[in-house]
Amino acid sequence: MSFPTVDGLRTLELGTPGPMRDELNALVLAGRKTATAGLLAEYEAEDEALEHPGERLVLVDNTGSRLGVVAVERVERRAMGEVSWEFADAEGEGFTSVEHWAQAHRRFWAAQGYPTTEASEVMLVWFHLERGLATRAIHAGQPPDPATGAVNVPIYATSTYAQDGVGSLRTGLGEGYDYSRSGNPTRTALERCLASLEGGRTALAFASGMAAEDTLLRAVLEPGDHVVIPDDAYGGTYRLFARVLARWGVRFTPVGVDDPAVIAAALQERTRLVWLETPTNPLLTVADIAAVADVAHRGGALLVVDNTFATPALQRPLALGADVVLHSTTKYLGGHSDVVGGALVMADDDLAERLAFHQNAMGAVPGPFDAFLTLRGLKTLGVRMDRHCDNAQAVADFLLTHPGVGQVLFPGLPEHRGHTVAARQMDRFGGMVSFTLVGGPDAARRVCGRTQVFTLAESLGGVESLIELPGQMTHASAAGSPLEVPGDLVRLSVGIEAVEDLIDDLRWALAG
Ligand code: PLP
Repeated sequence: MSFPTVDGLRTLELGTPGPMRDELNALVLAGRKTATAGLLAEYEAEDEALEHPGERLVLVDNTGSRLGVVAVERVERRAMGEVSWEFADAEGEGFTSVEHWAQAHRRFWAAQGYPTTEASEVMLVWFHLERGLATRAIHAGQPPDPATGAVNVPIYATSTYAQDGVGSLRTGLGEGYDYSRSGNPTRTALERCLASLEGGRTALAFASGMAAEDTLLRAVLEPGDHVVIPDDAYGGTYRLFARVLARWGVRFTPVGVDDPAVIAAALQERTRLVWLETPTNPLLTVADIAAVADVAHRGGALLVVDNTFATPALQRPLALGADVVLHSTTKYLGGHSDVVGGALVMADDDLAERLAFHQNAMGAVPGPFDAFLTLRGLKTLGVRMDRHCDNAQAVADFLLTHPGVGQVLFPGLPEHRGHTVAARQMDRFGGMVSFTLVGGPDAARRVCGRTQVFTLAESLGGVESLIELPGQMTHASAAGSPLEVPGDLVRLSVGIEAVEDLIDDLRWALAG
């Protein structure tokens, strides 16, 4: 029986060891998708699992399909080692009690065509004990070093590895390594952590976000294939399609991504991919990931979501139906503007295998120092994102009140076109704010030149606040194209400094 393992999640098989569980497994192995319900009530916590309120259980069936998530709300220990739990619904799945689970499972199996009755108690469940994101960011893929106990993953500065015999690799870390383009333990730690944070089964790290994009596109596309892309995608993404892949016969159509019907209308017979960024860079347009996944899949295309702006701390596209999550880890994941990197995260093993082949064959991998720095940044993702979100919301509220400001683009504002979708699919609204100036492009350039706490620079997602003029900086490569951005648009990457200083800085800059 193949069972999904996701690093950072521990697998619990439900039921006490013994005849009942053996019977359960026998039934499963025999391919009969029926089993005994009510085991949860009998489960005795012989290990330390499920001890803490807030711990989350991901409910999966025997195919690995995710059925729901619940969080432990209360744990009560009784005599004889018996434990009772109360669970809270953690993903709107409606599982609030054991009985709810049982009902949901009956419905689930009935929908699969298996005969179920109240009495037959068809409940086949495994639980993944899912630690919170902040915990996984620190621990997933990063156990203490087995040789020394070092609590941080060492920087394995080596290009090659001694072998114990021809083709006999050392497996002291659990898997063998032969050459650092193919694999390096520091990179493995980063990849496992990223997979866990995005809720995927595999992550692949790259030398930059663009290297991740290029590898993905060349792995899944052939000459003549077609891709639907956002009409305000990151300028470098547009440049890759327009100036590089177009020469290899890849065709693309830029469309507004906030209407799934528009995406559906852009699909062609050879559309292999729908590409989303949400929120987009720099206009902060929001796409409904679940709805677009549906449109893409019905058209026979894969859905790729560039999750660079939101990060898994705020949005998990795989759970919403995306096939691949892409990151420029240069941004929030690294978080300190000191390293360039990229990543792809997948839930599907076949796709992951194809992409892993191309990662090695094409070779655009990060070195171990870069992997270490990214991993070090990742550890504080949760707290950083909270502060980015707080500060961005306050900055957006301030800009709304300023007479020199035209439009404020921030998904957290109720008047933002994508607010309702963002509120549904994101935990919070992120740290990016864009705005236009009543005084036009000259005023925008002036503001960018006057701030003192906000640094005038490209990039985003670091602890320090940055300001830029996308039309002439990050998105200059889209000038003259359908992706050209307005000349009076200013983009802020709101950092984690004291928010009063950020607002004072903008007030001063806007007064000039
Ligand atoms: N995706 C988005 C949304 C970006 O903002 C960027 C870079 O700014 C990239 C991808 C490309 O990433 P990198 O600069 O790490 O190559």
